[in-house]
Amino acid sequence: MSPVHDRLVSIYDEVVARNPGEAEFHQAVREVFESLAPVIQKRPEYTESAILQRICEPERQIIFRVPWTDDNNRVQLNRGFRVEFNSALGPFKGGLRFHPSVYLGIIKFLGFEQIFKNALTGMPIGGGKGGSDFDPKGRSDHEVMRFCQSFMTELYRHIGEYTDVPAGDIGVGGREIGYMFGQYKRITNRYESGVLTGKGIGWGGSLVRTEATGYGTVYFVREMLKASNDSFEGKRVVVSGSGNVAIYAVEKVHQLGGTVVAMSDSSGYIVDENGIDLDLVKNIKEVRRGRIDEYAAERDATFVANGSIWDVPCDIALPCATQNELDETAAITLVKNGCIIVAEGANMPCTPEATRVFVDDPTLRFAPGKAVNAGGVATSALEMQQNASRDSWSFEFTDQRLAAIMKDIHDSCLTTADEYGAPGSYSTGANIAGFLRVADAMSAMGVV
Ligand code: GLU
Repeated sequence: MSPVHDRLVSIYDEVVARNPGEAEFHQAVREVFESLAPVIQKRPEYTESAILQRICEPERQIIFRVPWTDDNNRVQLNRGFRVEFNSALGPFKGGLRFHPSVYLGIIKFLGFEQIFKNALTGMPIGGGKGGSDFDPKGRSDHEVMRFCQSFMTELYRHIGEYTDVPAGDIGVGGREIGYMFGQYKRITNRYESGVLTGKGIGWGGSLVRTEATGYGTVYFVREMLKASNDSFEGKRVVVSGSGNVAIYAVEKVHQLGGTVVAMSDSSGYIVDENGIDLDLVKNIKEVRRGRIDEYAAERDATFVANGSIWDVPCDIALPCATQNELDETAAITLVKNGCIIVAEGANMPCTPEATRVFVDDPTLRFAPGKAVNAGGVATSALEMQQNASRDSWSFEFTDQRLAAIMKDIHDSCLTTADEYGAPGSYSTGANIAGFLRVADAMSAMGVV
């Protein structure tokens, strides 16, 4: 192995030793480092100024107590996090995740990914992430409201239009952003629209923000298909998940002529050979807040409780649920069934072993989440632009901007991969292009 490779391994080992017990964070760092040898080789100044060590250390990490009262008047306790990872390109920007699996290692993996994702959008946003181990499942509206208010009662002092701008992620949608914005406004007595994104359309939100991560994912895949003179027309697609990303990915695939035949949630997956009826899924998930098996009870479809959605044969696989949901066995099955594209709508949904299977297969193209799902945060940056200019744009205009951003990200992945000796590798291209933008800004700003 080359000296540069040894150097990367030793810095990675230091990161692991400094951050024990944070497996997902280690995984995310390793995945980026695996692409960086040619950059570190070409740019000795990055080594001299310890850019890699600095980029792996968050600028600030906040952990706080979130007490709240449930509907039975019992006091409940959760833990809140905000990791302000890197502000070289702009205010910290990234979502909040409310899910029982949340701990510091999850927030750091997501925050680290967010640095490079946000850099890839070409917009002036740094990287951050936050959340809580609060489980909104089964909680009443009032309980969710009281939790959000308590969460913001601490978080408000750390955020701001020019400092840190949170948004949604798993478990945090329009309802939660509304409760948090209301509490921020009450505490500060300021109508600072630009402090949160994902707001409602009538009070500072942007059209297309709700759809953006799912639509952007599909726009990215459309570019991948175009690159080989192909299109979505007639393609069979499997989309895991049934949250905000999955729902709008399905909507866009159908608009572009593909057919989504399977979706899932944590209870199992459904297969509908006629194509998923998205109105029904939206009703089950967004109105009833129910489980995906209700779909099979109402349509000519099958529900599988214990199994892998990746057993369903498809041309295009879009993992849009959560981290490490697609493992090596699933990857081998997808390849065997003739899948030609895997694109990550979620953050890090493929395990490193699964990614290896995809990368090693010459018939399949793989694209990583930090490029594919960047449309969500890019549209958040468009929301910030509208807030700063007290303007609101039409759906068509905003959607065109999103599509153009996704095309730019796609093209920059391929150009960068070519330039650094890994033609066709979206992962290498995304990691290097994102890293260079951040590292150059950090270099220009000195040792801070
Ligand atoms: N949570 C989304 C992501 O993973 C969006 C973040 C945002 O809009 O700030 O990129």
